[in-house]
Amino acid sequence: MIVVMKKDYTSDDINQVVNYIENKRLKVNVSKGKETCVIGILGDITEVNVEEVQALKGVSKVLKVQEPYKKVNRLFHPEDTIININGNKIGGKNLGIIAGPCAVESEEQIVEIAKQVKKSGANFLRGGAFKPRTSPYSFQGLELEGLKLMEIAKQETGLPIVSELMSIGHLDEFMKSVDVIQIGARNMQNYDLLKQVGRTNKPVILKRGLSSTIEEWLLSAEHIMAGGNENVILCERGIRTFETYTRNTLDLNAVPVVKKYSHLPIIVDPSHGTGSSEYVESMAKASIVAGCDGIMIEVHNNPEKALSDGQQSITPQQFDKLMKKIKILSSLED
Ligand code: PEP
Ligand code: MN
Repeated sequence: MIVVMKKDYTSDDINQVVNYIENKRLKVNVSKGKETCVIGILGDITEVNVEEVQALKGVSKVLKVQEPYKKVNRLFHPEDTIININGNKIGGKNLGIIAGPCAVESEEQIVEIAKQVKKSGANFLRGGAFKPRTSPYSFQGLELEGLKLMEIAKQETGLPIVSELMSIGHLDEFMKSVDVIQIGARNMQNYDLLKQVGRTNKPVILKRGLSSTIEEWLLSAEHIMAGGNENVILCERGIRTFETYTRNTLDLNAVPVVKKYSHLPIIVDPSHGTGSSEYVESMAKASIVAGCDGIMIEVHNNPEKALSDGQQSITPQQFDKLMKKIKILSSLED
């Protein structure tokens, strides 16, 4: 349920509504926008008498929220959420350009790629240290050593770093090391992991599960937000369909749909979305035009020799060309 305040509401009016709700032992979520203020009510609302709330001073209307996700819901927070990571904003009109290899392989590799993608305009460096591989015999990542190498690349370039957390046991190290925690597609429904990152204030990129609906994905984001962490960025990375000519089917519908139902930023990963370097540019450009808040692209200085996802990684030179086009497309007004 949400309470929309009148345009000329006062802080006393808000306090009165908040007190009324808290007296029913429910939680409130106050979102003050430019135009008005929206007070969200979380929990079992059967105790709330709509007429009583409606009669409180400063209240314009009381609405029931149909969707099962609340804090994630745009009704609870009508304005776009903008997440600020060391001065780099994602959301609203701010694009996050996250580039780097699928996996960190060596200091030379990550530092060289970091320098190149930064020169082309990336504002975040990605690199997996813990890799969720389908086969147990594939390269599993450099683990904690990989995180250290990411930190070196950050020192060298100033780029904030993004890396995937697979297990609660490494949360402390990630809190110290990375600027953004990535929760991978395979862990989108690892609710324990979501709850743990929800208790921190670290920005989180939540990838869409391989076969998850948008509603399930938004509910996973709700798990993080319910714990108090409001810094959630959604990442569309393609879903499983019957199609076999691409690794996944990049669901660009998700961009306008998520924008309608949620205030959270949504970025797109055309690398996993297509699985093929030759399709990355088309789908990256399409994502920008669809209105996303950023892109995540796998870039490798020697894709043929990459230890993970080489077939979908573009070279720094291809990334540079792509960035020139992205800059033009993102400057176009809606
Ligand atoms: C990745 O970003 O390298 C990755 C493993 O992504 P996903 O979880 O989307 O498969
Ligand atoms: Mn990958």
